[in-house]
Amino acid sequence: MRMLKIDEDIIMIALSDLDSNIYIIGDTVIDTGTGFNFTRLYDMLKRINKSFDSFKLIINTHCHFDHIGGNGYFYNAKIAIHKDDATYIENADIKMTKADFFDGKLHPMKVGIKLNDGDELAGLKIMHTPGHTEGSVCIYDKNKGILFTGDTLFADGVGRSDLPGGDPQKLALSIERLSKLSVEKILPGHGEPVLKNASEVFTKILG
Ligand SMILES: [Zn+2]
Repeated sequence: MRMLKIDEDIIMIALSDLDSNIYIIGDTVIDTGTGFNFTRLYDMLKRINKSFDSFKLIINTHCHFDHIGGNGYFYNAKIAIHKDDATYIENADIKMTKADFFDGKLHPMKVGIKLNDGDELAGLKIMHTPGHTEGSVCIYDKNKGILFTGDTLFADGVGRSDLPGGDPQKLALSIERLSKLSVEKILPGHGEPVLKNASEVFTKILG
């Protein structure tokens, strides 16, 4: 369990090995973990003078349970998720969200914003990057050169494409598209963030 200040505006919270990384940017949160560690998350938010009710927007990088399970705690926040993954959390689909794998309870969620490629919200650009799931997105802050990659890309390589909704060819195309961006930092859905020279990650993958 740890909290890491990425820059003046962004805080990363890692609750456990099961939970996705959670990124706090003002009153926006990117991914919310499994929801299993309510008390830890409550305490961490308190340490940065935040509470669940102060958030207005949740952006989910994709529909997997370890990224969306905590959505319900942010009860004032609208949920934004790509349109191709939205149905699975609206219908509480335990297979496509992997809630069955995590042994998690999933309730149908109301999606406030169905995202499309190129959408902008909270000053961030949504890029549809299918391959890990059909509706996986990366979230790009062009001014800072920061890319939130969910499970599409990690510090040490690309994400899985063998789960329901996954597609290795689409994932390869998505990575190629991301590699053309000007990126300084990669903030992935699990594991360590890349805090400088993020383009080297693409060089390693693409050769
Ligand atoms: Zn995932």
